[in-house]
Amino acid sequence: MKNIGVLALQGAFREHIDIIRSLGHKGVEIRKVEDLNSIDGLILPGGESTVMGKLLVDFDLKEILIQKIKDGLPVWGTCAGMILLAGEIADDKTTHLSLMDIVVRRNGYGRQLGSFKVDGVFKGIENKIPMVFIRAPYIESVGKGVDILGEVEGKIVAAKENNLLVTSFHPELTDNLEIHGYFINMMDR
Ligand code: GLN
Repeated sequence: MKNIGVLALQGAFREHIDIIRSLGHKGVEIRKVEDLNSIDGLILPGGESTVMGKLLVDFDLKEILIQKIKDGLPVWGTCAGMILLAGEIADDKTTHLSLMDIVVRRNGYGRQLGSFKVDGVFKGIENKIPMVFIRAPYIESVGKGVDILGEVEGKIVAAKENNLLVTSFHPELTDNLEIHGYFINMMDR
């Protein structure tokens, strides 16, 4: 059984915790530095990246998270969580944790009508999986060490670089558990 932290400052953390529990693992809500002590992996959920980025600083979590992820802690950013991990945000000087060699575009599908669902291919998973996008970012470009795992309509929506996984979409809002399973497998490497 793994202890899987979910950053619980803001956004869709509860849904991730429920799925982790339904897969037989322990979901740990992360709000303070001590919560990070015994986790095997960490999910950065969807929500609002500007708010979450500011709360990471206010709750003194930013520097320790950067250190742990650099030390190899498996981390998965969904939607806003992907923006937190990005090394560059297009048309924006801001970065947050800035750990992954990707350029993301926020609200890449427009702000108002930007929510939709498609069945898409995810590298390493046999069947197409349901992908829910909510004012989602997409990845404009990736660096050499980044493996592209999913593309929808020519836009990169999932990628992995060593211990970092990112998805533009929200597997926690569907009943498909395969991406959670994929992430949990990353904890054994
Ligand atoms: N649009 C949000 C942002 O830029 C992300 C939306 C989401 O996480 N569903 O942070």
